[in-house]
Amino acid sequence: MIPVGFAYERPESLDAAIALLAEHGEDATVLAGGHSLLPVMKLRLAAPELVIDIGRLAELNYIRVDGDEVAVGAATRYRDLVISDVLAKECALLPAVARTVGDPQVRHRGTLGGALAHGDPAGDLPAAVLALEGTIVLRGPRGTRSVPITEFYTGVFSSVKEPDELIVEIRLPRTGSTGWAYEKFTRRSNDWAIVAVAVATMPDGATHVAMVNMGSTTVRATATEQALASGASIEDAALKAAEGTDPPTDTHGTPEYRSHLAAVLTRRALTTAAP
Ligand SMILES: Cc1cc2nc3c(=O)[nH]c(=O)nc-3n(C[C@H](O)[C@H](O)[C@H](O)COP(=O)(O)OP(=O)(O)OC[C@H]3O[C@@H](n4cnc5c(N)ncnc54)[C@H](O)[C@@H]3O)c2cc1C
Repeated sequence: MIPVGFAYERPESLDAAIALLAEHGEDATVLAGGHSLLPVMKLRLAAPELVIDIGRLAELNYIRVDGDEVAVGAATRYRDLVISDVLAKECALLPAVARTVGDPQVRHRGTLGGALAHGDPAGDLPAAVLALEGTIVLRGPRGTRSVPITEFYTGVFSSVKEPDELIVEIRLPRTGSTGWAYEKFTRRSNDWAIVAVAVATMPDGATHVAMVNMGSTTVRATATEQALASGASIEDAALKAAEGTDPPTDTHGTPEYRSHLAAVLTRRALTTAAP
């Protein structure tokens, strides 16, 4: 399929991009890496009148330490996350997860902001940012606001982001180079996850567990986290991974199969992340 015809703008600045979004509202959409938007447009599930390309805005492409956090520009590509010395030292879960996405072509085009805005419950990066309890910085005509990722998603492919807002930055705690793990279960290398589990050890010592494809959004394994905080063993805590979740059914598996995978992957990830 080819998309419905559309106009294309590549603004020179973030301010110009926001002005275009404000002017065109829901008739416009933003293009970053294009690896989710273009398939959706080709399937004619989206037919924007105007596509605003922010993929080459240098203002949205950076990785830097800022106080207790690492700040990542929304248009930073997976490949740049993977090779970042700053992230390897300060927040090593994120590049490890980015390294598992698709193939090199996808990783050279896809962006962190695009993955978070798209909000696919099968996506890898939302789980990493949820495990890290990152903050999403949004900017639009009414100004800038910060939303914890725990409050960002409202359902499958949907979030509190308004149509005229851009994700401009993702802020992550400085969790360091150790105490993390990512277990992604796929049928073949380069595939999307059937289930995946991200574990992060937070600066206060708490263990966070986030899961891919265990609900309509990326979700935390809350029962596992509570069990660990109460002193349960990794084996016992991992068995609770699927509690309170609502995993989907598709050609790759039933909810029961996914629940089993969640427990196994959580045990492996917690074991790897343990000091
Ligand atoms: C062959 C293939 C394999 C893949 N495999 C995987 C995989 O294994 N794991 C995985 O997680 N993903 C996978 N993906 C998806 C990939 O991660 C996408 O790149 C990502 O989901 C979207 O990022 P993007 O920068 O390409 O966004 P785009 O496609 O450009 O945009 C996606 C959506 O987000 C919006 N958007 C983009 N940037 C912003 C912003 N800054 N602010 C507000 N809205 C914005 C767009 O308007 C659009 O609605 C795969 C994709 C392909 C084509």
